[in-house]
Amino acid sequence: MTAAASPQRRIPVGVLGATGAVGQTFIRLLADHPWFEVAAVAASERSSGKRYRDAAHWLSGDMPSRVGDLIVTVCDPAEVPASIVFSALDSDAAQEVEAAFARAGKLVLSNARNFRMDADVPLLIPEVNPDHLALLPIQRAARNWSGAIVTNSNCSTMVIALALAPLHQAFGVEQLFVTTLQALSGAGYPGVPSLDILGNIIPFIGGGEEEKIESEPLKILGTFERGAVTPACMRVSAQVNRVAVEHGHTACMSVKLATAATPEEATHALRSWTGAIAELALPSAPAQPVIVTTERDRPQPRRDVNAGNGMSVVVGRVRADPMLDLRLVAMGHNTIRGAAGASILNAELMFARGLLAI
Ligand code: NAP
Repeated sequence: MTAAASPQRRIPVGVLGATGAVGQTFIRLLADHPWFEVAAVAASERSSGKRYRDAAHWLSGDMPSRVGDLIVTVCDPAEVPASIVFSALDSDAAQEVEAAFARAGKLVLSNARNFRMDADVPLLIPEVNPDHLALLPIQRAARNWSGAIVTNSNCSTMVIALALAPLHQAFGVEQLFVTTLQALSGAGYPGVPSLDILGNIIPFIGGGEEEKIESEPLKILGTFERGAVTPACMRVSAQVNRVAVEHGHTACMSVKLATAATPEEATHALRSWTGAIAELALPSAPAQPVIVTTERDRPQPRRDVNAGNGMSVVVGRVRADPMLDLRLVAMGHNTIRGAAGASILNAELMFARGLLAI
């Protein structure tokens, strides 16, 4: 494999749900993207017809001025003049809207939970399971649509799956017990009321968060064979908490391995892992998808959330576990690695593989 060639001109893309927390992260990350250019922004009827700068309650830094002048449309394929759309839609809207775009021949790169676990839909992490893109012709044939849906995982799943992948490949992961501490931006905007979360921890996140963490890693770490993904043989128990952190989901994990490994062997496996797409040098791919810290009090969201431009997962406190085999703590940026940045990396991989019809 060699570094992927760039497109001759920037490829126009649309952003669905462009006004929300993840939608804004797409707008920010795509503003200076070398391959993609935002040509259309869409959201609900509450926002449509307004200029983007008036419709979006902008959350971070300066809004890219060119996008600020775009008029927000409804999420109708006829209104979005782009064959590639990034979806940051609320799951209530995503089911119908994303299917309509795929039916209309568009490639949908989705952050919503709706299609993730469908057998014919890739739940993609380029460094981990790029071969799952082979589901696309099967999806198109089964659903009789010319477009496609490619999903990325739940934001905590992303942190967990990236930290587990090197261990699973080296030793096999049989059991995972995980407790998460999830940032406020993971709840979207306006999210959790301030009086509920300031000085507090809420040991519940709706929308099936624990179930997603217990199921999605099995598909991601599963094997593509004979036209289907066979899930990894792994049991996961998850407990989730919302905490008063702005960005960055932390996952405290205990892991049982198929082949015993010392903390030093596990650290070596994590540190030497470069993932499946390193040679492609994709624009959003971090030099190290997993960064290992040996400082005894890291990773911390405030200090580590922007590692690898928000695209690396930082792992620390790798040590023996008195009940299972290993303990470790992983942390990653939920709206970048866990959402918009992940979708953009998926699109980059698809371009590099010649899978973007443009
Ligand atoms: P959010 O801030 O609440 O934004 C939701 C977006 O969906 C807004 O643009 C909203 O538009 C639009 N929308 C809502 N109902 C709609 C409808 N009926 N038709 C068209 N558009 C509609 O949520 P978020 O945190 O950005 O999350 C977006 C998606 O990404 C969700 O599916 C979420 O589960 C997933 N996700 C989020 C994160 C994260 O860290 N936040 C991470 C991974 C995945 P209006 O402004 O016009 O209402």
